[in-house]
Amino acid sequence: MSGGSAPRPRSGCECVVATSNPGKLREIRAILAGAPVLLASLASFPRVELPVEGEDYTENAIAKARAVARATGRPALGDDSGLEVAGLDGAPGPRSARFGGPGLDDAGRVAALLRAMSGLEGADREARFVCVVALAMPEGEIVTARGECAGRILATPRGDGGFGYDPVFEAEGAAGAMAQLTGSDKHRISHRGRALRALWKAHRGHAP
Ligand code: IMP
Repeated sequence: MSGGSAPRPRSGCECVVATSNPGKLREIRAILAGAPVLLASLASFPRVELPVEGEDYTENAIAKARAVARATGRPALGDDSGLEVAGLDGAPGPRSARFGGPGLDDAGRVAALLRAMSGLEGADREARFVCVVALAMPEGEIVTARGECAGRILATPRGDGGFGYDPVFEAEGAAGAMAQLTGSDKHRISHRGRALRALWKAHRGHAP
């Protein structure tokens, strides 16, 4: 957690979700469904641009939230996340959205990951999802929280839920890929669910 005393937006306030990733937006809305906050999409602010991402989850999440809070004059929520694979020395990490090169879709990135991991077995297939969320207020206050979800990379894709690398990630204790879980089961154990619940608790004092 960073930023000293946490900002406290009023109940029922509007917060802009600083992402152009529809999978993240869908999940953030579902995780915060019980919270008294109206989550606006960047689609309502077509002239707002997200910053180019670097190599650090926290810096990226803060940069996204700050850029959107400044441009819209509203509180903004940034999410930077990625998949870290033991046998790839933690790659793709903060570069997960760009892994395998430009022009790939989720299925293409999954295929590129499995190719990069060919021959890796056992502990080398251990992995974790990491998510840092940042809430930025237009006046400049900021608070962040981090969540992780440990698991391993499967040999072949399974399921069609979630997004990104979910078809090849099996969370610890789950029987099957993240993409085979219901949304609520994923959010209960996911890096994003954990990060958002921690963020909410930090500025409201209780779970969403
Ligand atoms: P970024 O935070 O915009 O840099 O993108 C994060 C990337 O990590 C996504 O585009 C996905 O490829 C991957 N990722 C993050 N969270 C998840 C998740 O919950 N499931 C599967 N893939 C994810």
